Amino acid sequence: MEKKAWVWLRRDLRLHDHRALAEALQHHSYVELVFLFDPHILDSLPRRDARVTFLQQRLQVLNAELEPLGKSIRVVHQTPLEFFSSLPVGNGTQAVYTHRDYEPYALERDAAVEEILKAKNILFHRLRDHVLFEENEIVKDDGKPYVVYTPYSKRWKQALAEAPERLVPADSSALLPQLQDGIHPMPSLQELGFEPVETASVTPPEVRSIIDHYHETRDSPAIHGTTQLGVHLRFGTLSYRKLATYARQHNEKFLNELIWREFYQQILWHYPKVVSESFKPAYDRIPWRNNRDEFKAWCEGRTGYPIVDAGMRQLNATGWMHNRVRMVVASFLTKHLLIDWRWGEAYFAEKLLDFDLASNNGGWQWAAGCGVDAAPYFRVFNPALQQAKFDPQHTYIKQWVPEWGTPKYPAPIVEHSLARERCLATYKLALNENA
Ligand code: FAD
Repeated sequence: MEKKAWVWLRRDLRLHDHRALAEALQHHSYVELVFLFDPHILDSLPRRDARVTFLQQRLQVLNAELEPLGKSIRVVHQTPLEFFSSLPVGNGTQAVYTHRDYEPYALERDAAVEEILKAKNILFHRLRDHVLFEENEIVKDDGKPYVVYTPYSKRWKQALAEAPERLVPADSSALLPQLQDGIHPMPSLQELGFEPVETASVTPPEVRSIIDHYHETRDSPAIHGTTQLGVHLRFGTLSYRKLATYARQHNEKFLNELIWREFYQQILWHYPKVVSESFKPAYDRIPWRNNRDEFKAWCEGRTGYPIVDAGMRQLNATGWMHNRVRMVVASFLTKHLLIDWRWGEAYFAEKLLDFDLASNNGGWQWAAGCGVDAAPYFRVFNPALQQAKFDPQHTYIKQWVPEWGTPKYPAPIVEHSLARERCLATYKLALNENA
């Protein structure tokens, strides 16, 4: 047991550039990798969940890499509290290493794990990984968090210029032979209570040429002009440090998107209330119509607005939707249909392979106008104009809505100018009356 360490994998499913793993291997003689399929999370998911398939397949790939060395990740179907409670009491030299996670459930869980480990005389190290700067590192001069993106991103870039070592990858791969020996059996999806679902490749795609042209291609849903790396950033299958280095050298627009991601991470940390409430409280007084039939039509891509329907069908079929279209469908739900942004957020959370609490919540609150640095409530996207601008050849629409332009395609669920007027009147009344 002397100098033993456990590396607890979570949203960092890779063996290269792994800071927690490198640290553990540098300081401990016996290091074991552990991944916990937490029933607390799994039990709330549908049986056919693409993300669980993704995780399981990714762990298999990592284990295939480790097997020739006679090593493997210990994959366990247990809550973290159960698992860490079962560890033997230490003598102060043992440690658990992991990477920090900023979501409210994760913070609570980690605090509870810390207590258990403390009582066992085992150290708990939480390192920064999936962001370059933590929540208190990029703040205003008065120490308060930024709630506007542009000054945040300027400060972020300046901080990185002053601390370029943040981009240096950790040399974990070279140390893998030092891992503790042992091949552990892995629970199958069925044993975890899930059915396999077709999902994205668990190996991150090569995206350098997409990043090079990103500023020209990012707004066209018909082409493969964005990286589709969301799921890989979510589960840490790639080195964020290498990606940010490439972005910084080759395309500032792309770097700016990575900064949006960090911006929303720190908002969630500083304002966990956004999980259930509007960042701007007045918006929680909007009397949402919440018509269930209209919500169903939106979910199924039957609103009669082709760009909205194409987006929702793409999401339902693939677990991914283009960013431009995410903005259009979210605006349509919250403004044209006056349906609570939380309904749309929950639907996306269930369907998106790249679902990330901070970015999803940020995106929805942005679209509804109630979030940090959000679209003003009076800016109501016109779906027809969005489509004319971003899918002028109807390529995207024809791909996802083949019956568009035929009698089979439904009439618009609501007329655009009426919906716009209704939205403006409703928002204005709610915001002014109670301001
Ligand atoms: P790229 O354009 O190639 O960008 C690369 C990466 O940068 C993305 O993978 C993502 O990690 C990050 N990024 C890009 N744009 C944003 C953004 N606006 N905000 C935050 N991060 C960004 N992104 C998620 O990762 N998970 C979500 O659950 C999510 N939900 C969203 C919901 C709504 C309503 C909206 C409007 C946006 C949402 N986004 C979400 C942001 C964005 O739409 C996706 O990150 C992007 O479409 C993913 O495709 P990509 O990987 O090809 O992105």
